Formats: sequence, C-alpha cells, structure tokens
Amino acid sequence: MSERILIVEDESKIARFLELELKHEGYEVEIAFDGRSGLQRAEKGDIDLIILDLMLPVMSGIEVCRRVRKFSEVPIIMLTAKDDISDKVTGLDSGADDYVTKPFAIEELLARIRVALKRKYSAFRDSGKDTLTAGKLVLSKLQHRVTYDGEEVLLSKKEYDLLLYLMENKGIVLDREKLIENVWGYDFIGDTNVTDVYIRYLRSKIDQKYGVNFIRTIRGVGYIFEDKQ
Ligand code: CA
Repeated sequence: MSERILIVEDESKIARFLELELKHEGYEVEIAFDGRSGLQRAEKGDIDLIILDLMLPVMSGIEVCRRVRKFSEVPIIMLTAKDDISDKVTGLDSGADDYVTKPFAIEELLARIRVALKRKYSAFRDSGKDTLTAGKLVLSKLQHRVTYDGEEVLLSKKEYDLLLYLMENKGIVLDREKLIENVWGYDFIGDTNVTDVYIRYLRSKIDQKYGVNFIRTIRGVGYIFEDKQ
C-alpha cells in the first residue's frame, strides 16, 4: 500500500512538478490549489503526509496547519519563502513538523518526506519520552508498566497500547478510526466499536477506580485524554 501525499500549493507549475517526482517515487499524490480545499481534503483523512505551501490563496498555510492539528497528527512539511526565519518559526509553532525553503532541491524534499513518514510510523513506540504522566498516573514505556499514585495498574496488552496512544496524544480528540489505525493496526478487520469496549475497560481500571476523569467522550466523534483533574 503506497503512502498518500497531499500537496497544497497554488503555483501549478510547482504542484505538477512535485506530483511527477512523488509519483515517480511511488507515492500516491493529490493536489489542492488553495488553503481551504487543502484543509477540506485533509479533513477527509487517509492522507499520510502534507506538503503545505505557506503563501496560499483563501487560507494561509499557517492557518491550514493550525486547523489540521486540531484533528490530526499527520506529518506536515511546509514550503517557505527563502530565508524568512519568522515564516519558519511561525510554521513550526503552528504545528508543522519540518520545512523546506523555496527554491528547493527535490532530493532534499524527498529525504525530508522519508524522515517524516518514518517518524510517523515509529512515533507510536518511540515518541521520545520514556515516561508519560497525568496527575498521579504514570506510564513507563521502558518498564511497560502503569501506576497510579504508586499502585500498579494491571492492564492487558491492548489496554496498555490504547492508554499509551491516548497519553501520547493528550488533549487531542481521537476518533475511533484513528484509534483503530494506531492501536489495532491498519489491517484490523472488525467493528470500530471495539474501541468503546476498551475505553470502558480503561475507565473501570483507572478513572472509576481512582475517582478521576482522564478519558472524556466527545459525543459523535471519539475520545480525548485530558490531564486536568
Ligand atoms: Ca504560494
């Protein structure tokens, strides 16, 4: 299954050039020529990476980036104007993972795409921090162990994986499809309601047991892990 890259770029010459090069590399490619249609395409999901131009009509790249980050952690590489440091900083602040300055060498962009995709797939297991905390809840990735106020919370493997994913995405609304993709895997065949079942298990072992409220239901969408007790 090849990865799908969304190019959001109003200069059609650049967009077409990128499309050709990326297809040549084996990626599937979609193009949006303004910010709003780029955002709309991203909202549909199933995009593995976004190449986002900063200067776009209708909605700026920064705004697109900010809005995408409200619902997705998809890697975003920004295309910025040459040497404009403030653009780069704003881009990264708004949630972009990386940037490439125009004019760019295609090899550089391709390398950055590979890095961003690799990081995306390894993020689940290795997102930098070994220990995640929320209040008195501590998850140690090294020890594969969860405690609440020092007391061990016994979880099945799937419960642990789900909690890890929730904690790594603290504050972000996660829909069932996203949970399935990241916790059960892309090749999962079955009902997405399985997520509800496992959320219930986690709640009974943590939220209800300790009288806390980490996992909140967002009706009609999914779940969010919050650390404000
Ligand atoms: Ca532009």
